[in-house]
Amino acid sequence: MSQNPEETVRTKSPEKTSLPRYAGLLVFAWTAVVLIFLAGTLYQENQATLEIARTEARSRVDQIILCQQWNNNHKGVYVQVDDKTPPNPYLPRKPERDLRTPSGRTLTLVNPAYMTRQLYELAHQQNQVQGRIISLKPLRPENKPDFWETRAIKKLEEGAAEYSSVEQMPDQDYLRLIRPLVVEKACLECHASQGYKVGEIGGGISVTEALEPLRAVNREHMSMVWISHGFFWLLGLVCIAFGSTHLGKSLAQQRRAEIDLQEAKQTLGAYIKASPLAIMTLDPQGCVRLWNPAAESIFGWRSSEVVGQPPPFLAENPSPEFQDLYSRGLKGEPVRGGGECRDRNSMVMDFSFSMFPFYGPQDELTGIMAVLEDVTERRQMEEELFKANEKLKVWVYEFSRRNRDITLLNEMGDLLQACNTLEEAYAGVGQYMPLMFPEGSGALFVHQEKREVLEAVVHWGDSPPGATEFAPDECWALRKGQEHLVQDPASGLLCAHLAGTAAARYLCVPIITHSENLGLLLLLKRSQESSLEEPLSETKKRLASTAAKQIALSLANLKLRNFLMLQATHDPLTGLFNRRYMEDTLEREIRRVQRKQAPLGIIMVDLDHFKRFNDSFGHEAGDTLLQAVGIFLQSNIRQEDIACRYGGEEFILILPEASQEITRVRAERLRQGVENLQVEYHGQSIGPVTVSLGVAIFPDHGKDGEALIRAADTALYRSKQGGRNRVMIAGEVV
Ligand code: GH3
Ligand code: MG
Ligand code: MG
Repeated sequence: MSQNPEETVRTKSPEKTSLPRYAGLLVFAWTAVVLIFLAGTLYQENQATLEIARTEARSRVDQIILCQQWNNNHKGVYVQVDDKTPPNPYLPRKPERDLRTPSGRTLTLVNPAYMTRQLYELAHQQNQVQGRIISLKPLRPENKPDFWETRAIKKLEEGAAEYSSVEQMPDQDYLRLIRPLVVEKACLECHASQGYKVGEIGGGISVTEALEPLRAVNREHMSMVWISHGFFWLLGLVCIAFGSTHLGKSLAQQRRAEIDLQEAKQTLGAYIKASPLAIMTLDPQGCVRLWNPAAESIFGWRSSEVVGQPPPFLAENPSPEFQDLYSRGLKGEPVRGGGECRDRNSMVMDFSFSMFPFYGPQDELTGIMAVLEDVTERRQMEEELFKANEKLKVWVYEFSRRNRDITLLNEMGDLLQACNTLEEAYAGVGQYMPLMFPEGSGALFVHQEKREVLEAVVHWGDSPPGATEFAPDECWALRKGQEHLVQDPASGLLCAHLAGTAAARYLCVPIITHSENLGLLLLLKRSQESSLEEPLSETKKRLASTAAKQIALSLANLKLRNFLMLQATHDPLTGLFNRRYMEDTLEREIRRVQRKQAPLGIIMVDLDHFKRFNDSFGHEAGDTLLQAVGIFLQSNIRQEDIACRYGGEEFILILPEASQEITRVRAERLRQGVENLQVEYHGQSIGPVTVSLGVAIFPDHGKDGEALIRAADTALYRSKQGGRNRVMIAGEVV
């Protein structure tokens, strides 16, 4: 369980708990330092004050000594006697101790001691400085030393040049200073009686300096010292507070970073342990440092067996590519790749791996992490998936091809349905078959019944379809009545109609409907062509079969339609156009020649005495004669002329753009032809027969078909009347 980070910081951070203590110690130390400095400063200030007082005191002593020397130099000075300056009673009686001036003033001699006393008294009155001359053997009792002075003079007698100390008096502190008073020759004038000798210490000059005035002056300065030290102390406290706060934050951050690092380490460790990937770390020499549980289970070696050794699977001859990548990875290059190796049980496995280097602070290679994944199953699955995908592609391709083929088949069916003639249908087949069978060539053969052959009506592709006309028994498909497929021209049973063509795979599909052989669909595929279509050959066979059925149906439909058309427009006995067709055609032809401003001739033909012929030879013989005349007429007109059976034994010939003369010549020629016509019936010649003909010309003899026929009929009537077997032009008189 991971700890709350804040808790961790609190419980694991001695820095945080000891920081206030350290800060307190720092405050204490700082305060002590400031106090020491303050005390030092105060002491120095006090010493300076004392030194000033001492200097002042020395100065006063020096002044007195100077005055004494001056007085001594003058062997005493005379001053006016007054209340404050009476004659010195301690001076030995001198005749000149007291003098009276001419003006009456009394002067008395003032020796150095007397002068000193007076000067000190005056100074004392003015500035509280006390001073006096003391003597160990005083003439004057007031000059007897006090306790301090006695002690001081002893110090001076011991050799000290000066002695001073601060003495606490009830009112204030005083600096007391004493300098020795050495006995001089002049001194002996007054003090010789006391046993003094020149050069010895006879006493001292003592000065007492009140310290309070100096201290009062110094006190202001001292307050500044206090303030400045207090300020520095506070500044130090602020710095300590700021520093400790900042330090606290830094320490907290550092601790946080340490905890984060610890957590990251733990997370990384947990990840490495829990990872399904084999993870190992290697030292720069390629020996294993870390080998995680997944590596143990994937490769079979335990961590304790491999740590400190090169990875054991390397010994099992991995591929050169892997070796190359691995050695590059060991040199510190980040690499990624795949490979094949063997586990502890020598089982071959595929794996993917990546290697990543670690670098130290000096950018030196410290280790390499390698992550390996066993991808054997995945690789197998990928291969299977790839195969399935390839299959699917083929299916999709086949499906799309089928779809396309079906679409094309339907389109071809629709087109063939819309065709009015067989030629259109052949062209339609020629258009669609290359689309459905683009990989080869082919042809459509149609059964020509009259000649009993199969004739190529359309072909596509580059390869010639073999014989363009052949007998049905030259094709195995037509013989068998089913498809004939030759996959290998070298060994297959080849159809005779393809003999002599370049070796090719081919398929013949008979076009059959209602057991009637209508033709043949031939598909050729050159041997060297792509084998992509090879798996579809069965499909192609089915497609060809379906296409053949559709073509068969369409051809049968067209044939039936043609037959019905023939029935509707032709006379069944003679094969000529019937009367209704003739009437429609005549009107149409009249309009056509009218546009061209050309003439049109019609010839009406009637067999002479046909009733009698029937009666003589029989009705069937009559039919045979009618057929023979019909064939004769059909074969003796131009291609653009139209021959019709008008009814019974009457015929009409339409000759577009034929003038009256031409029509008449033609009619005459026909008359003569029929007259010479040899007709046999059951092996016997029947006839001869003659015809009467009536000619009418558009627009001379009629403005429309009806009028024209009427005019021709009238002309025919006159031919009959005129004796038959002759030609009469409409409007002509016999
Ligand atoms: P004319 O010389 O005046 O034309 O005399 P005709 O006998 O030829 O003319 P008619 O109109 O008297 O007779 C026509 C005959 O033609 C009557 C009919 O039996 C015969 N006939 C009409 N249609 C056919 C047919 O389809 N087959 C046969 N065998 N005879 C037919
Ligand atoms: Mg007739
Ligand atoms: Mg007749």
